[in-house]
Amino acid sequence: MPSRTSYVGRFAPSPTGPLHLGSLACAMASWVDARAHEGTWLVRIEDIDPPRDIPGADRLILELLAAYGMTSDRAVVWQHDRNERYEEIFNDLKDRHLVYGCACTRGEIFAADAQLGLARGVYPGTCRNGTQGRPPRAWRFAATSDPVSFVDRWCGLQTQNVEKETGDFVVRRADGLWAYQLAVVIDDADAGITDVVRGQDLLDNTPRQMLLQRAIGAASPRYMHIPLVTDAHGDKLSKQRKAAAATSEDRLGTLDALWVHLGFERIGADNVNAFWQEAINQWKERWCSI
Ligand SMILES: [Zn+2]
Repeated sequence: MPSRTSYVGRFAPSPTGPLHLGSLACAMASWVDARAHEGTWLVRIEDIDPPRDIPGADRLILELLAAYGMTSDRAVVWQHDRNERYEEIFNDLKDRHLVYGCACTRGEIFAADAQLGLARGVYPGTCRNGTQGRPPRAWRFAATSDPVSFVDRWCGLQTQNVEKETGDFVVRRADGLWAYQLAVVIDDADAGITDVVRGQDLLDNTPRQMLLQRAIGAASPRYMHIPLVTDAHGDKLSKQRKAAAATSEDRLGTLDALWVHLGFERIGADNVNAFWQEAINQWKERWCSI
């Protein structure tokens, strides 16, 4: 099998708390996919939301990844260091009239949705042609009306009409912070990411990110969206729901449990290195031609 040495993957956690098992599953899948492709694996800390970020969580996340044998092949990137770069791209999009200021409040958007029969929260394009003298709050990317399609390695063919399903979306928030969609696209492009492996909670964000990639002239990576780890009630594990943090105790048990979650059988290795060796082989066999 020819190796794809150009493969560059990443794991990009938000430091809003310690890693829970769902995030660890994403780290595992992106790590093993990168190793199976003999590629490069990066870690990026997505700390662009200071009100939600918890001081020190980034360090805990990196320590936990290291305890599981996952370390970034290049220097770890923190999004808070990249504001100037986001500003540069944002100004370029503004100059090209691909983003525009929006003066609408959430309440106004919901009221317009109800009136126009749109799903709640879909931006109805009110400010596309100006804010009627009101000061802009957020900045939105003008979505195109043609459907965006891609083949997800896990979920298969996906198609979304961004204009209809989300409307023009925010790239700079009303509080002045960068929206996730903009930062993630610029960071992936600058790092030369070829493969994104992440949770299915982000599957429906992908078409928005692909529109931004086209706008900034970046190639779209391949995508694989893995199933979310759920709790005993079937709810997604998340930091908001106060899901239990993953710990470095019983690492082999945890790795095996997550491996089963990813559709494989328990490996039952004696140590973490041996686990990964076997996992990489199994992953290669199942996923590396796809
Ligand atoms: Zn508006």
